[in-house]
Amino acid sequence: MLTSLLPPTITPALRLCFHRRSMEQQRPLSTVTMAFTVVAFLIFVMARSHVTGMDLPLWPRLLCALAMLLLVAAIPKAPSTFIFGLIGVLYIVVLQIGVVINVEGVEKPLFWMLPAGMVIPICAAPLWLTPRHFILGTIAFYLAGLPFVLSVPFTHDDYVLCAMWVAIGIPTATTFHFGFYWFRLSHFMLEEKLLALAGTDPLTKLLNRRAFLEQAERVLGETQAEGEVVSAIFLDIDRFKSLNDQYGHARGDDALMEVTQVLNDAVPPGGVIGRLGGEEFAVLIKTPGPQRAAELADTLRILVAAILRPDGFLTASFGLAHRRSNESAIELLDRADEALLRAKHAGRNRVFVEQARRVERVRATAIDEESDTRVDEEPVVATRWGAFDLFTHYQPVYSLSHQKQVGFEALLRGFDRHGTPLQPDSLFAPQSNPGVTELDSLTHHLHLANARKRLPLDTWLFLNVAPSTFIQAGYEQTLAAIVSEAGLDPGGVVLEILESEGVDVEELALAAWRYRGCGFLIAVDDFGAGHSNLDRLLRIQPDFVKLDGELIRAKSRASDQPLLPTIVSLLHRADMLVVVEGIETTEELILAVESNVDFAQGFLLGRPSATLPSAAAVMRRIDHAFDVIAEGRTVRTARFEAQLAPYLAMLTSAATALSNGANIEEAIAPMAKLELCKRCFVLDETGRIVGPEIIGRAGPGADFRLGPLAGPQSGRWDHRPYYWKAVASMGMAVFCQPYLSLTSGRASVGVTMAFTRDDKVMVVGSELDWTSPHLAWPTAE
Ligand code: GH3
Ligand code: MG
Ligand code: MG
Repeated sequence: MLTSLLPPTITPALRLCFHRRSMEQQRPLSTVTMAFTVVAFLIFVMARSHVTGMDLPLWPRLLCALAMLLLVAAIPKAPSTFIFGLIGVLYIVVLQIGVVINVEGVEKPLFWMLPAGMVIPICAAPLWLTPRHFILGTIAFYLAGLPFVLSVPFTHDDYVLCAMWVAIGIPTATTFHFGFYWFRLSHFMLEEKLLALAGTDPLTKLLNRRAFLEQAERVLGETQAEGEVVSAIFLDIDRFKSLNDQYGHARGDDALMEVTQVLNDAVPPGGVIGRLGGEEFAVLIKTPGPQRAAELADTLRILVAAILRPDGFLTASFGLAHRRSNESAIELLDRADEALLRAKHAGRNRVFVEQARRVERVRATAIDEESDTRVDEEPVVATRWGAFDLFTHYQPVYSLSHQKQVGFEALLRGFDRHGTPLQPDSLFAPQSNPGVTELDSLTHHLHLANARKRLPLDTWLFLNVAPSTFIQAGYEQTLAAIVSEAGLDPGGVVLEILESEGVDVEELALAAWRYRGCGFLIAVDDFGAGHSNLDRLLRIQPDFVKLDGELIRAKSRASDQPLLPTIVSLLHRADMLVVVEGIETTEELILAVESNVDFAQGFLLGRPSATLPSAAAVMRRIDHAFDVIAEGRTVRTARFEAQLAPYLAMLTSAATALSNGANIEEAIAPMAKLELCKRCFVLDETGRIVGPEIIGRAGPGADFRLGPLAGPQSGRWDHRPYYWKAVASMGMAVFCQPYLSLTSGRASVGVTMAFTRDDKVMVVGSELDWTSPHLAWPTAE
């Protein structure tokens, strides 16, 4: 009955929590009020002695006061709400008995008891923790007084007094109690709600990052059973951005909810689940052994991969790490994240377990802090420019294959007279400033003077040059003179031509030729940004091309594959070495290594600094990138081949049938029934289609934009790798790297096999649709 007074949303666990919290808040208040009541009781005793003398023995009343004091002293130590309530009930009974003894023999005993009978329950009302305590305490209080009341001969006045007790004391005490109780409860509920909101992700209602880490730390703090392992599973939805971009954020949100549902259903009780960021989730789980956690991760992967998205199935990549002794939640998650990165790199939709060998995580700050011992004692050269002091800072350039620092880009840093740093842009702006060349030459003096003192001999110095300075007649001679004055060789200096509009490309090309004559190396900066186009590059013919950071992130529209490997191979074909700038994340570093980039630069590898940064930590990063790639390459290639296997098997039987004179249509029809098959065909010696072309299960995939290209029958296809590779490996089913199909305008893989029929070489093949995000892409050659 009483519990029904609570709001319906409050669970037994929450109620318990509320009572506990109430007890903590009530303790000091109860102690003080009950102690004061003992004092009030003693005053009452003194009043009685004053009125009727010492005819009544004192000790029973003092005994009551002592008992009450002991109960008051017990209040701060009460271990549970039950004991707390019990102390209250006993206290009130003893008090009542004391009051009754005290009025023994007075003329109007009920009148004497009036204040106690009315005031005590009212004052005690807010102190009761629960309605049950209140009701029991009040009943006990009145029951304790009842024998006395019944033993008193009632006069008319006494009836009035009793009626007052009942009419005023009980309702007031009840109102007080429930008023306070509801106030405390709603305050508690509000607090709980705020607490929950602060730790909950509003969309999925999972724990947010902060709450997840808190809960995880709590789990890590618990003692573990023998053989029990705590593991972190980190997952990130694959290609989520494309889902959002193509089908809208509402669809993206739905997918997040579906993943949440999977996690809520599949993670066993006791597991901590959180949404750590956009489409990143984490699970912390205790299992009897590491294998169970791996099984759970794989179950989650399979369940997520069953969620439909408009263009196929949603997938996620998983990283799993097991806790090492004394590791914090954040360190554990970091290692799971590292494994996740490798899972992404190996082609997504997979679970990767942390590497057995510990890969040291190097924090970017550590690189800044470690300064190299090579810094010599010679003072740094600074120079003045108007109101500013100018200094040289260096940013290291690494050769990824050699895994070492091969150069340093000198960067200008200016400080005003108060030591406030100035943006380099504002030093050189506006571009048309007639002072640019002057400042450029001053800068070159400064950098070169510092370089001799600072830089190791066998490294390049990368110097930025504004195009307007670069084309100045005779500046190459001036610069060569500054270089030799600094005791350096122009062969160790790479001039970076900045991107800018307004300077004629022809003039730049001529100037580059002159600088090269003086021995300098030439680089074109920011290729891919602004006006730095391919034509400019091919005319200047630089030794190095520095790629704009955005190009690293460029991806193909349909298949979401990075473009960097192809851009790098184009530049290599043009005899230019490639530097990527702006490497900030491990993922970008891995992509740079995998794309065959020659040199890399960026905050991850070293921020610009006045002292030369140490290379050791960066070497480990680069080495790690190589490990990730090696592992990913093996896994991806194996997956690519496994995905092709049924097609190759089908192709072999088709080729055997065809070479035995089977009907073309009948021989290739079974292949067309396979899932990814777009079309099946047979080509003759000149690469032209013979017989019918069969449209496969994946449809022709003809893109309406490419309508005029429909009908491959008229074409000649022997220049395609899928044709000549097959002819070169006669009798073997072969496949080629994904390519852009001219008939569908989509990424495709060709599987082919050459055979002879009537002494003529023929090729049977199939074009497979290779756009689904679930398909593996082999590493580009
Ligand atoms: P990868 O396979 O490499 O993980 O690629 P990805 O596209 O999943 O990863 P990326 O980190 O590039 O994109 C994550 C996207 O998630 C970017 C952002 O628009 C989207 N996102 C973040 N939070 C939310 C959200 O609450 N709702 C929706 N709909 N999208 C979100
Ligand atoms: Mg993602
Ligand atoms: Mg992400």
